Amino acid sequence: MLENLSHFLNGELPAALETLERMVRINSFTENRAGVDELGRLTAETFAPLGFTAECVPSVNPRFGDHLVLTRRGSGPRSVALISHLDTVFPAAEEEANDFRWRREGDRIYGPGTNDIKGGTMMIWLVLRGLRQFAPDVFESVTWRVLLNSSEETLSPDFGDVCRGCFDAGTVAALVFEAEGTTGGGRNVVVARKGRATWRVTATGRGAHAGSKPGVGVNAIVELAGVIPRIAAIADPSRELTVNPGVIRGGSVLNRVPHEAVVEGEMRAFDPAALADGRAAIVALTGEGGVRALSDNHVGRVEGVITASSRPWPRNAETDRLAAIWLAESARLGMPLGTEQRGGLSDGNLIWDSVPTLDGLGPRGDHAHCSERSADGQKVPEYVEASSFVPKAVINIHAILALLGER
Ligand SMILES: [Zn+2]
Repeated sequence: MLENLSHFLNGELPAALETLERMVRINSFTENRAGVDELGRLTAETFAPLGFTAECVPSVNPRFGDHLVLTRRGSGPRSVALISHLDTVFPAAEEEANDFRWRREGDRIYGPGTNDIKGGTMMIWLVLRGLRQFAPDVFESVTWRVLLNSSEETLSPDFGDVCRGCFDAGTVAALVFEAEGTTGGGRNVVVARKGRATWRVTATGRGAHAGSKPGVGVNAIVELAGVIPRIAAIADPSRELTVNPGVIRGGSVLNRVPHEAVVEGEMRAFDPAALADGRAAIVALTGEGGVRALSDNHVGRVEGVITASSRPWPRNAETDRLAAIWLAESARLGMPLGTEQRGGLSDGNLIWDSVPTLDGLGPRGDHAHCSERSADGQKVPEYVEASSFVPKAVINIHAILALLGER
């Protein structure tokens, strides 16, 4: 089957890349609602000839486009969920300014979303085409669901509810088609992802004339400056908990004692307990400050709040079971894959404990979320490798058949 399958998929690849080009040429920045919906229509059209019907599910955020649920009902009880997303991180103006568009150079195809994740969507298409051709009984018996988040890049959690609404007792796996992991030069599936919490710490002082009444003032910048090393110290490398003060602002003009200063940042961890401890440590900063006014001992105040939180996808037995199938099949095929735990989040974070979930099943590429290119080669924008589609589709097809006990 292997040679025939590769031959068949190589024949399908030009059509896949042609559709990928049409997808990449549609700007689908998360906040470009019309663009995301246009890409949703093209995606529905692309899968319709395979027998998929489309349902649009409005996002809870009215600024975002619709999530897309594509379903092909099978004759048997089992179902497989194939996960991708519609949005990218690139506003149209940025694509224009950096002349960042579909551009093929040798094996590399540059362009917004080539790697994250429109290439992954076309990987799903190739996998389904191959299954229909070489395992028609399996293709007919399984219910396939292609679930596409309209706003994955904003970590909006409502897509997790959309997925759970589609999962049923027969759902054997959720397969996420984010790009292949390249850590250490490897070819990896993704078995865990960090969770992330964003936070804000505000120091409140008391404003005063900096020249005539400085003793009345409580300098919020001085207050906050003392707190920031304590924030940084929440990081715990032994638990892979990172803490990054990312943005700081305070004061207004030079002749005022500043009454407020703010630092915002994020933290990440694989271990839910480590992330929970980090969040608690930010909130625990809340209380009286250490800076006092000379005039009346008025004291500053510090407040730490968590502004948003996405849970980790920790290492777990069900994901490891799926990864073992992909590793075994890829080794057997002479194209061995490894595993990696990734710092960035995906839709896998939303669903890993609802059904067994595996990620990193898309094609190979690099520089996701980058749009700049420099002549000296120091800056390279997002790209996908055209030659990675067929071998990875072959692995995915064999692994899905093994997962279903059909091989
Ligand atoms: Zn992304």
